[in-house]
Amino acid sequence: MKTNFHVKKKDLYRLPWSMNDNPIGWVEVTDVCNIKCDGCYRLIMGEGHKSLKQIKEEISFMKQWRNCDNISLAGGEPILHPRILDIVSYIKALKMKSIILTNGYALSTKMLSDLKDAGLTGFSFHMDTTQVRPEFKKKKIGSEMELNDLRIKFAKMSKKAGLNASFGITVHDGNLEEVPAFIQWAVDNAGLVNGISLITYRTMPTQGIAYFSKGKEVNVNSNSLGYTSGKDSSDETQKITSKQLYALVRSHFKGYEASSYLGGTVDHSSIKWLIGNLIVSGNGKVLGGYGKKAMELIQSIYHFTKGSYLVYPHSKVGKEIFLLSLFDRPLRNTFFQFLKRSFINPFRLFKPVHVLGIGIIQAPDILPDGSIDMCDDCPDLCVHEGKLVNSCRLDECRIYGEFLQPRPVISKKPVEEDRLVS
Ligand code: SF4
Repeated sequence: MKTNFHVKKKDLYRLPWSMNDNPIGWVEVTDVCNIKCDGCYRLIMGEGHKSLKQIKEEISFMKQWRNCDNISLAGGEPILHPRILDIVSYIKALKMKSIILTNGYALSTKMLSDLKDAGLTGFSFHMDTTQVRPEFKKKKIGSEMELNDLRIKFAKMSKKAGLNASFGITVHDGNLEEVPAFIQWAVDNAGLVNGISLITYRTMPTQGIAYFSKGKEVNVNSNSLGYTSGKDSSDETQKITSKQLYALVRSHFKGYEASSYLGGTVDHSSIKWLIGNLIVSGNGKVLGGYGKKAMELIQSIYHFTKGSYLVYPHSKVGKEIFLLSLFDRPLRNTFFQFLKRSFINPFRLFKPVHVLGIGIIQAPDILPDGSIDMCDDCPDLCVHEGKLVNSCRLDECRIYGEFLQPRPVISKKPVEEDRLVS
């Protein structure tokens, strides 16, 4: 894919999140799941549901060591945990927000309203073509758009219960071209959808790289880790980057702005988290977006007033965003578009405006020299045996007791004789 849109770090705000001051705490409550997704970061190893005691300890750990504003409840499928309401109530009692990452399959209207009463902030729904969903008679879905009816169903259910709803897809070469249509769906339903996330498909290269644990080589090809999935370094699916996705979104949505980022831990040029947005009028017209100054103000003011950084707002953001247009050039342009349209039809002044967040996340990259480019100041650290570990690599700790060490495979070709002589 070739486009003329290049994202430059100097045009973005580097999010100030760090290990000990990060708006997100990642807590996995179960390894039970009711759906199989390709490229899932988590293996179902039969550990079942964690005890409420252990979950409470992990949540308190996050509060103490991460200064979280939000706890992301993950799994497995968190809705299946029999004490999910107690878990959500506990988070609320500690004055944090909670988001459940779910495939939605087990969600009922009653469960939604119980979760709302317990203090839940919202859902991040994962529905995409990597899944084999029971609603589709255990068939793999051919196109992202086939899932829109299901997405709308859950967006409406969430809105009715007063809960936020974001929708994520894993992006691979099979659905890359559908990304603009997926975003357009979110734009068309901006009154129901808070945000979308695009996570690049994750694999582990197995050609030219060997993996070691405690000094011994391990065979990751045996599919012992979910994300090896039998794919290797020649597989193009792992080459989709956040920069490519940025260019794709830019080329289809005039006015789309990326405001902030997290870089990589090894590659100075990589962008692992790219946060952007579209500001959409009440009748589904894209007005523009906001840029780095607005994001800097949002993070700084929130931290100054609440004591932590912000990732998920409590409720949908609307016209109040224009208050920041004094300080942010892209937002000024967006505000101008809003005023221009309202001048033509003054009734538009009273119509709602929706801010649609677009988060792009580039999965870890294993580089040819064996180093791993992770997300700098990873927001999705979880607790494992009293330590914080990247949740995307938790299975390495669960299976091998530590992170695997990748090393480039040295060619065993014999050294030529004339080189030996010299
Ligand atoms: S490094 Fe952290 S934020 Fe990045 S993919 Fe892994 S767990 Fe997620």
